Amino acid sequence: MDITENVFKLADELGPEKVVFLYEPRTQMKAIVVVDNVAAGPAIGGVRMAPDVTTTEVRRLARAMTYKNAMAGLPHGGGKSGIIANPRTVHKEQIIRTFAKAIKHLEEYIPGPDMGTDETSMAYIYDETSRAVGLPVELGGIPLDEIGATAYGITVCADVAKDYVPLDLNGARLTIEGFGNVGKPTARFLAGKGVKLIATSDSKGTIYNAQGLNVEELIRVKDTTGSVINYKDGEVLKTTDLLGISTDIFVPAARPDVVTEANADVLDAKLVIEGANIPISEAAERMLHDRGILVIPDFVANAGGVITASVEYHGGTETHAFDRIKSTISRNTKEMLDTVYSEKKYPRDVAIAIARTRVMRAMKYREWM
Ligand code: NAD
Repeated sequence: MDITENVFKLADELGPEKVVFLYEPRTQMKAIVVVDNVAAGPAIGGVRMAPDVTTTEVRRLARAMTYKNAMAGLPHGGGKSGIIANPRTVHKEQIIRTFAKAIKHLEEYIPGPDMGTDETSMAYIYDETSRAVGLPVELGGIPLDEIGATAYGITVCADVAKDYVPLDLNGARLTIEGFGNVGKPTARFLAGKGVKLIATSDSKGTIYNAQGLNVEELIRVKDTTGSVINYKDGEVLKTTDLLGISTDIFVPAARPDVVTEANADVLDAKLVIEGANIPISEAAERMLHDRGILVIPDFVANAGGVITASVEYHGGTETHAFDRIKSTISRNTKEMLDTVYSEKKYPRDVAIAIARTRVMRAMKYREWM
């Protein structure tokens, strides 16, 4: 199918408002930007750098940001961009600055960090465009990955969701797919509630110990050697083996579509909290729900990062960010789950209905372009 046909076929009453393809021949910078909806304010969304990022992925992620920002009650719409490059092998500053120059006049889009980019990348973008969130502290940023903003939100979510499962967090088993900026602090925050991390993975493999992994030691091993598989006191398995490990809480915190209709039946968990964006296909989410596994959708559970980004953009502090994450995510999780159980609906359907209502209300105040 032609690319334009693909984009317009999936367009609906919310967006996407703009889909921009960028190419700079000298540096070979190739990127896709999707501004999905700006009714509530300029779109905030991450810049993903990966060799295999696609237009469909960026479009889906941009929509997830529209929902996430609306759900969190932020004065921002949703957008996303993808730079098609391997962050480990390219001249990163050159590619990021080239990207930033190309979006300088796309003022309705405020970039933030995502997989393959970080606060240094945001500093380059800010230098070129005066617009970016997730900045280094020296530029007035709140270091959202360092403070574990998204992971804190996931923990708040677990605290509310446990009563609906029901599940005692103290002693509950946890598996985390992806041990990066979301995965590591999630393990740490949940350990503080007595949750036992039994397995986690990265692109090189899975580390597993049914008796529990020492979270601080595992973080040290990941940071110093580059992979969780170098942790000594555990069994090393393949990356994909993580999904088949019996657990109480599963947190996907890496790539999109790791659970689909093809493998959803191997998952053996009671509660799934989506730390990553679009980690589980919608059909697979429904299959899990029908099996009695409660799945908290990405844009409800992982809003901690963008809440912090918005607080930073509007001049707030780290303390404001934590307060706002706690109140927003606990309220939204509760509101969604009350309806899920009283009206016997799927969590994503309920969450989308809440978010869409908020976006449509904001759209009423806007003139047509
Ligand atoms: P990251 O790059 O810091 O960490 C990703 C981790 O996943 C790394 O440990 C990497 O080795 C691992 N990984 C890569 N491929 C894998 C695979 N196939 N199987 C298992 N592990 C794999 O990224 P991050 O910032 O932690 O983001 C992870 C996900 O969470 C992304 O989907 C991102 O969009 C989403 N997210 C991040 C934030 C944030 O605040 N950082 C906020 C909301 C959502």
